[in-house]
Amino acid sequence: MTLQEIIDDSKKIVFFGGAGVSTESGIPDFRSEDGLYRMKYAVPPEVMLGCDYFFSHPDDFYRFYRDKMLPLWAKPNAAHLKLAELERAGKLLAVVTQNIDGLHQSAGSHRVYELHGSVHRNTCLKCGKKYDAAFIARSEGVPHCTCGGMIKPDVVLYGEPLDGETVEGALAAISEADTLIVAGTSLTVYPAAGFVHAFKGKHLVLINRDPTPLDCMCELVLRGKVGEVLSGIIV
Ligand code: NAD
Repeated sequence: MTLQEIIDDSKKIVFFGGAGVSTESGIPDFRSEDGLYRMKYAVPPEVMLGCDYFFSHPDDFYRFYRDKMLPLWAKPNAAHLKLAELERAGKLLAVVTQNIDGLHQSAGSHRVYELHGSVHRNTCLKCGKKYDAAFIARSEGVPHCTCGGMIKPDVVLYGEPLDGETVEGALAAISEADTLIVAGTSLTVYPAAGFVHAFKGKHLVLINRDPTPLDCMCELVLRGKVGEVLSGIIV
């Protein structure tokens, strides 16, 4: 079956995505040729994005974070927009994303499980006061709350657990789906990558530029750009 035929045959689609969903919006992923992990930093990004590093080197963490993880200029691309359209048409149950950029919500999606949190939510570690991403972007050094506490982005750093409610909601949606579209992810970041195994439905589809460990289990593997592929779908 083609992707169009699979979508026509589906009533409860769930989309599971990763950093590759936002590369067409100009945000680099981690593991591609031009991804963040291939750029040369004195301290590797996977260390700087660790929970230990955040607390031991907050200045360096925020320098990297503001520079590379806070693309507030980015706009939703064709993939984000088509998924929002599928949700409005009543065909898409939920988006489960590993991304932290909030672009699915900007595109109009409502049921979005952000497994790794969001740059748009930031919390004072002392009093719990919330701050938006613009506050973090315009602050200098380590951002502090009016109470004096340090502010931490609500993103899941390496070494931190995922949020329990988000995990529950994401797994429930995936296990209820008749079609799971996995896209723009190397499926190497656990536990998120393991979520696709909760799928019990009919059609498993993968859209990814590079091969992934899931390819051999899929009914359909499309080796293209996720925005280009999804924009061809007629809802
Ligand atoms: P990854 O970098 O490990 O893998 C991205 C995958 O997407 C690669 O396999 C690549 O071939 C593919 N890809 C890139 N552009 C594509 C496109 N236009 N169309 C189709 N495929 C494309 O990303 P990951 O698996 O999501 O894991 C990285 C982690 O980094 C995630 O946990 C995520 O939270 C975080 N991250 C998030 C953002 C963001 O919020 N936009 C950006 C970078 C990293």
